[in-house]
Amino acid sequence: MMDYNKQSQKLKETAAKLLEEGTVEAVLGLKDNPEVGWPTPYFARTAGDVENLVWNEACFTNLANYLLDMRDKKVAIAAKGCDVRSIINLIVENQLKRENIVIIGIECSGMKQNDSLAAGCDACPSSIPNMYDIVVGADGSDTYKDLEMPNSGENVTEWAKNTTVDERFERFKKEIDKCILCYACRQACQGCYCKACFMDRKATPWEQVDPDTSTKMAFHLTRAMHLAGRCTDCGACEKVCPSGVNLKYLFKGLSEFVEEFYDFKAGVDMEAKPFANQYKQDDQQVAFLGGDTIVGV
Ligand code: SF4
Ligand code: SF4
Repeated sequence: MMDYNKQSQKLKETAAKLLEEGTVEAVLGLKDNPEVGWPTPYFARTAGDVENLVWNEACFTNLANYLLDMRDKKVAIAAKGCDVRSIINLIVENQLKRENIVIIGIECSGMKQNDSLAAGCDACPSSIPNMYDIVVGADGSDTYKDLEMPNSGENVTEWAKNTTVDERFERFKKEIDKCILCYACRQACQGCYCKACFMDRKATPWEQVDPDTSTKMAFHLTRAMHLAGRCTDCGACEKVCPSGVNLKYLFKGLSEFVEEFYDFKAGVDMEAKPFANQYKQDDQQVAFLGGDTIVGV
């Protein structure tokens, strides 16, 4: 059972101590934001600032990519399991240094958005972050409770096996049609940190006032391929989408695919080499989501 009040209290005490001792320059957490409707990222820089930090069931935002703004400073972060998986991915990709981060690992059994389980929380493997320096248990104590998780996420690989190419395309097109190409999904994603995204290169006609289906497909399929072996299943992309586009299944399917065929899962092992930098002689040349298998090579 979660006790958010006790967790908030412990987070504030911990953050104040770290700042007072000078262990960190800032503590990254969340602050109430009535305009947005849910807590948004906040850097507490003094012991007085920590009173602004909140922790409740609407704290679903993945904070990991905000660490990139302070990458050369020593910073503490209030981190759930999904934030920590994303931090691990960013360390593996040499974007963050482990020694610069103090992880306040906050136990979480799933966040809520609009009274429903937030995107990504349905498939979260554990209430306990898989890397941490300081423990904030479900009841605000120094011990994790290892709570039962919803575990109701879709197995996309199974779904793909039991559908035709036309049915799979239909699902993709139904979601794509809702997209307004605002790029909020990209901005929220821990893996989308390129300074010049392929969609922003003005020399190409990617950006249109009234984007057609093919432009939207180009964005989403290319983004998905760029996230292969890098997506940490955090669900941030779906949580921020203003149009209710449910494309996380594509990324989840990709994660399942990479795990099944290449034995790699992003956000698990800080010492791992980036997935795309690895090559084994027996790597399989197989197509994603049941397309045609590539033979040879
Ligand atoms: S956030 Fe939603 S509407 Fe905006 S680009 Fe992504 S999928 Fe499209
Ligand atoms: S693609 Fe979506 S689920 Fe995957 S890491 Fe990015 S925001 Fe999270």
